[in-house]
Amino acid sequence: RPAGLARPEPAGVGIHGLTKRYHAGAIALDHVDLDCPAGEITVLVGPSGCGKTTLLRSIAGLEQPTNGSIRIAGRDVTRTEPQRRGVAMVFQNYALYPDKTVRENIAFPLRMARVGKAERNDRIDAVARLLRIDRLLDRKPSQLSGGQRQRVGIGRALVRGPNVLLMDEPLSNLDAQLRVEMRAELLALQRDLGTTMVYVTHDQVEALTLGSTVVVMNGGKISQAGTPEQVYTRPGNAFVAGFLGGMNLIDGRVEAGHLVSGESRISLPGRLHGFQGQRITLGIRPESLSRGHAGDDELGAAGPVVLTEMLGSDRMVHIGGHSSPLRMREEHHAPVGDVVTVRADAADIHVFLPDHDGARA
Ligand code: ATP
Repeated sequence: RPAGLARPEPAGVGIHGLTKRYHAGAIALDHVDLDCPAGEITVLVGPSGCGKTTLLRSIAGLEQPTNGSIRIAGRDVTRTEPQRRGVAMVFQNYALYPDKTVRENIAFPLRMARVGKAERNDRIDAVARLLRIDRLLDRKPSQLSGGQRQRVGIGRALVRGPNVLLMDEPLSNLDAQLRVEMRAELLALQRDLGTTMVYVTHDQVEALTLGSTVVVMNGGKISQAGTPEQVYTRPGNAFVAGFLGGMNLIDGRVEAGHLVSGESRISLPGRLHGFQGQRITLGIRPESLSRGHAGDDELGAAGPVVLTEMLGSDRMVHIGGHSSPLRMREEHHAPVGDVVTVRADAADIHVFLPDHDGARA
């Protein structure tokens, strides 16, 4: 463990029945219950407007919830001022003081806490070494790269030794390669320090790689929370399946062993015939689809290829007579005009019911 850093015990965060209604109208958080375990990274992920920033800012104390409670290390902090919660926040735009040096920026929270000069400098030096910005302490933010600025923002958050580190899309202003590097550094940092982190992103890859717990949000509610493996391999509903896994989602009604939607007919394996008469959504990952005639107990679709879109290792294949295109591995690609048959193993098909919370058959 790095020497010289203030290091209180990591603290768990407990959210109970949290609701936030802004004056302007819509409900941003709707009865959210969540436990963020001590010493782990909890990632809040979801599309724009789902409420993840509001949840993070509520933990920080920068938003006052309409209802519900927040506990940190077992203590109710719902009405506690931000600076007394033992949390620190890293912002998307770094929020550094442009006229101050890196050292002065990192010193700021220590000055606020009236930490004496000698200890202040010791702590700044320790956090700067940890983040490898010790040679940049006399520079101004304008003389730093994006990645270096982000490190300064993280340093300023870490220097008081918070119980909980809150991060709001901290990597989204960095280019793709730097983002991947910083992601690995954040993981290593968290492992070294053992700090509890709550991390907001809209990037599903970032969520799956960073999170011990991944919390998928939609419309102010938690759609599913679990380990990366749980939410990816066993999505609880079609929203999570589409958002995290890039699954093909196909809606329709089950009629006589087929999924029927408008003109489109897809033959279903026997175990799905029991949904006769019901509307269901099938979820099939790109890697589960291949070319070839479906066996008796497999899923099968057929038709002429009318359009294909290259996505790299995958390709979107629009098949005549089917309302949604299928995302398939590039190796199964067929040229426009060819009549193709596509199949999937029964075991690889997820079934979601339309009541939103869904089920996996
Ligand atoms: P993004 O990824 O775009 O930042 P988000 O998931 O973080 O989105 P929030 O910023 O938490 O979402 O917003 C949730 C909802 O609350 C949205 O409908 C948003 O328009 C609304 N909202 C957020 N801040 C305010 C505010 N200060 N006043 C009124 N409505 C707000």
